[in-house]
Amino acid sequence: MSTASLQRDEILLLFDVDGTLTYPRTNIQPEFEAFLYSKVKPLANIATVGGSDLEKMFEQLNGKKILGEFDFLFPENGLVQIDHGKEAGKQNIIQHLGEPTLKRFINFVLRNLSELELPIKRGTFIEFRNGMLNVCPMGRQCTRSERNMFVEYEKKHNVREEMIKVLQEEFADVDLQYSIGGQISFDVFPKGWDKTYALRYIEANYNFKEIHFFGDKTEPGGNDYEIFIDPRVISHKVATPEDTRRILTDLLKISDS
Ligand SMILES: [Mg+2]
Repeated sequence: MSTASLQRDEILLLFDVDGTLTYPRTNIQPEFEAFLYSKVKPLANIATVGGSDLEKMFEQLNGKKILGEFDFLFPENGLVQIDHGKEAGKQNIIQHLGEPTLKRFINFVLRNLSELELPIKRGTFIEFRNGMLNVCPMGRQCTRSERNMFVEYEKKHNVREEMIKVLQEEFADVDLQYSIGGQISFDVFPKGWDKTYALRYIEANYNFKEIHFFGDKTEPGGNDYEIFIDPRVISHKVATPEDTRRILTDLLKISDS
């Protein structure tokens, strides 16, 4: 049976945000938005699953109206679950790890960073989110040119990789996982708290015949990798929103007018 012959409530389309619905670090384009809401949404349930928080999702997808447009929103890899505009659940790294372990980790990272030599340093070295910590050796409060300086430096020194090795050793007793995304930072989160986390909520509450995932960072180490290879989803690799549109048009047999 082809996907196009399924009912709306039998299909879930799960989209990564950055690079999939939008070009990297920009906002969704009006044409793509219109296509998604008027052509795709009538045919299938639509959902986002992004690495960043809900505020960032609002920013990239043109505001809070997405609460009404999408059937589901899964910011922070689905650790926050929004079901038809309402928050249905939230998982939290403090509860999961416990305060003592979390503090031990943060103290170690700060000590390590204080001894790390870099050409420049700015502010905000650890950003605390619901489901993860984001560690930025140079500090997130930097300009674009300062960011580029780090990128150049990192080509020779692998700052983030080296630091992850140290952390893996020091915290071998804690079930943490590390992921290098973006240019200047890396994420730390409990094992299994990648984008497949969103599927737990879906599986527990809904029964779709097909779940499709669209993402751009699908190689090992990329933040779409785990969900991309998950047998519960039919996966589509894209490089741009144009790819996403082309695949959707094909999949749902949308007339291109
Ligand atoms: Mg992406």
